[in-house]
Amino acid sequence: MRHDSGHIIIDPIFASESYRDEVRDCFIAVDIDDCDCGHCEVDRGPIPIYGTVSLGIVSGNVRVSQRLTITELRELADTLYRFADVLDEVSEATKQTEEDLA
Ligand SMILES: [Zn+2]
Repeated sequence: MRHDSGHIIIDPIFASESYRDEVRDCFIAVDIDDCDCGHCEVDRGPIPIYGTVSLGIVSGNVRVSQRLTITELRELADTLYRFADVLDEVSEATKQTEEDLA
């Protein structure tokens, strides 16, 4: 059962992009959009350099890349910190209860 306060949906301004890679892998990559090479400048278009962050998730042969604005990034980051705090508190409470029962 998932609680509403432990759930977030961010509806980003920019569309996500997905790619197929030859090599299978599994990771999350976060990059500040700070590259001034020709490919990145074309990809960025009118978006200012240092204006967004790319959040990428690789699962198997699929890579999904999502450009986030600074506001979206802060919302996500703040939420992840709050979630980590909740997990720390629950974990500590569970550990304390287990110690109390021992
Ligand atoms: Zn580049």
